Amino acid sequence: MKLTRVVIVVAYMIVTIAAAPRQPANQVSKVGAPQTRVVLLGTGTPVPDPERSGPATAIVVGDHTYLVDFGPGVVRRAKEAVLDRGITALEPANLKVAFVTHLHSDHTAGYSDLILTGWTAGRRAPLEVYGPTGLQSMTEHILQAYRVDIETRTTPGGDQRGNAEGSKVNSHEIKSGVIYKDANVTVTAFPTKHAMESYGYRFDTPDRSIVISGDTSPAEETIKACNGCDVLVHEVRTLELFSKLPEERRSFGAKNHTTSDQLAELATKAKPGLLIAYHAWIAAGPSVLPTGEQPVLLTTGAFHSSPDVLQHEMALRYSGHFVIGRDLDVY
Ligand SMILES: [Zn+2]
Ligand SMILES: [Zn+2]
Repeated sequence: MKLTRVVIVVAYMIVTIAAAPRQPANQVSKVGAPQTRVVLLGTGTPVPDPERSGPATAIVVGDHTYLVDFGPGVVRRAKEAVLDRGITALEPANLKVAFVTHLHSDHTAGYSDLILTGWTAGRRAPLEVYGPTGLQSMTEHILQAYRVDIETRTTPGGDQRGNAEGSKVNSHEIKSGVIYKDANVTVTAFPTKHAMESYGYRFDTPDRSIVISGDTSPAEETIKACNGCDVLVHEVRTLELFSKLPEERRSFGAKNHTTSDQLAELATKAKPGLLIAYHAWIAAGPSVLPTGEQPVLLTTGAFHSSPDVLQHEMALRYSGHFVIGRDLDVY
């Protein structure tokens, strides 16, 4: 009996050590990992930070992937998750279903990439996309813009002539409520408070409940949607940054985004098992902003705080499990 225990412990250590080099510090270990995984493909903002792609989050249930938002970089980050994290469900050809929170460009600039790269990588069915009013028009215009590419590839002699179906998109304009259901997930949309029609999404899978806010100011609907959910992925920005914004950005932010004190208050009521911050206007790392330095004006013209400042502001106000998401983190 004792020997069995030793063998189990040693086997556990071998598995843990073998997995360790591939995992960032705040990533869930593969040992005992849930069937449903949250893969952060893009945790950035409109700023073209090379370490933080545009907003995109993947919910992976077994072999199936459900995307929320498709910011710039989404397809390459998905492939990176295949190669660096071993999550084969994120093969570009397997990106078949997506939900968009709102139509701001930082959340949708990867749309043509998702449609066309996914297709030429091997997707054989139309892409299914769900989102607010305006999604159908955006979809039609993107397909029209790439008409020459699509026609050339599907014409006799074209490299995709046997797979015209994969170039198609079924776009669904939604309202609040249950908007999607299959054997793996039930997806419920709820209204958020942003500059345009916008939705957050709750995913219920066989083993987890996950809520993704998209861009929003603090919303009662987000608290209701989570209500003790396993994971809440929410946007945020620091109070430090907020206080230093120029007036027009500050008033826009006050109406349409969430500060750290507001997120702490919201999460205290929503009670997620894990709170993940994303879309946080924080510099990528020491190469951009050394720890402890004051916010700086990047060449792109946008202010950032450091991750340390965000962590500190949240620690003062929130006692739950909180992490700052980074691209390719898996939870
Ligand atoms: Zn937005
Ligand atoms: Zn945004």
